[in-house]
Amino acid sequence: MTENLIETRSVSFDVADRRIIDRISIRVKRGEFVGLVGPNGAGKSTLLRLLIGVLSPTGGQILLENRRLQEIRLRERARRVSYLSQETTTVFPYPVLDILLMGRYPFLGRFRRESESDVEKARRALAYVGLAGFEERWLNELSGGERQLVLFAKILVQETELLLLDEPTSNLDIKHQDQFFSMARELTREKKAVIAAVHNLNIASQYCDRLILLHRGRVATEGRPEEVLISERLDPVYETRTVVTRNTSTGALVVNVAPRTRTGRRPMPLIHVIGGAGSAVNLTRELVRLGYRISGGIAHEYDADQKLWQALEVPSLTAGAFSHIEAEDLEKAFPMVEAADLTILCSFPIGPGNEGNLELARRARRLVILEAGAQGAPRVFFSPSAEAAFASLGAGAEFMDYRRLCELLEAGVS
Ligand code: ADP
Ligand code: MG
Repeated sequence: MTENLIETRSVSFDVADRRIIDRISIRVKRGEFVGLVGPNGAGKSTLLRLLIGVLSPTGGQILLENRRLQEIRLRERARRVSYLSQETTTVFPYPVLDILLMGRYPFLGRFRRESESDVEKARRALAYVGLAGFEERWLNELSGGERQLVLFAKILVQETELLLLDEPTSNLDIKHQDQFFSMARELTREKKAVIAAVHNLNIASQYCDRLILLHRGRVATEGRPEEVLISERLDPVYETRTVVTRNTSTGALVVNVAPRTRTGRRPMPLIHVIGGAGSAVNLTRELVRLGYRISGGIAHEYDADQKLWQALEVPSLTAGAFSHIEAEDLEKAFPMVEAADLTILCSFPIGPGNEGNLELARRARRLVILEAGAQGAPRVFFSPSAEAAFASLGAGAEFMDYRRLCELLEAGVS
């Protein structure tokens, strides 16, 4: 029972000089529902085509119950593995019943026509997917969703122990999508195995026992949905920022892309950024991306932070290039900080020239101090008074590193 139904051992697939599948080793047992996830072009379809045998690996081995796939005759393969292609737009003009009976061909002896029981199987499968009465309809005259259901019914008729499904519900509405995956799950109870490329991570989390996350032809990570659907793992692969939550009624994980702007009646919180020496560049971009309202300062003229604020039209205050921050600069800046819901003191060196910023920070309604410099280096002070003033900020401030700050901003500052 613990034996692998299908296994790949360091399978690679090259087209010309391009490596599309790169040393993938996976194992799937009977009774498992495995989701292949990953961005467009990750290699999901190619891996499925390798598993059905329409493509041959350029390296490594594929074993179907410990036998090399390529050594298993086509007819036997077709009795054991079925495949639903992503591509359902090019279809043959055949009546639905004929399509379903094609699923029985691998089981028919030479010159034998399908029997009454084959036809009965086809009818039952059609009813099972909710298309009873479609027997005489022509496949090419059905909607995309109906075609997908017919082709799924064909796989059911094929009664294989392994089902490979490539984005099988791309044309289905949510009700039929749910039905489809429920039906596929049902099959795993009969000790069949299903491997499905699933675009929608929320669907994948809901129905799959295990997920394999592909990235550029490799396995980035695999495991139970809660082990894979983690922002730290998803973000580098999908090259975006995700927010993972749990559906309160089903308990399933829900993956969303972090919103750029939040909609709602209340305006976004106002965040004041105290920067300098380019320490606020990344943070400013992130705040813009998340849709926060921002003010900045006081940085010096020609400072990288100051230039970015100007370019992004962030209200900000500037001190002269080589002068200290003066009392009159501060008088103008205090209202900005006092109006802000949150003030963030970035990690830049502090000395006589910009010590005034610590006075500014003291006026914050809520102050976050970014703990460490770019590479985790301690903050630099150019004067003992700057160091002492910084130390005295400590009591009311929240210290955090950039990552934690991003999480806070992502979750929403109230
Ligand atoms: P996915 O299904 O995850 O979106 P695919 O397996 O379809 O990804 O494709 C993986 C990569 O391989 C893509 O970059 C795609 O352009 C490339 N690719 C797929 N098939 C071929 C082919 N026959 N010739 C050249 N490149 C291909
Ligand atoms: Mg694909």
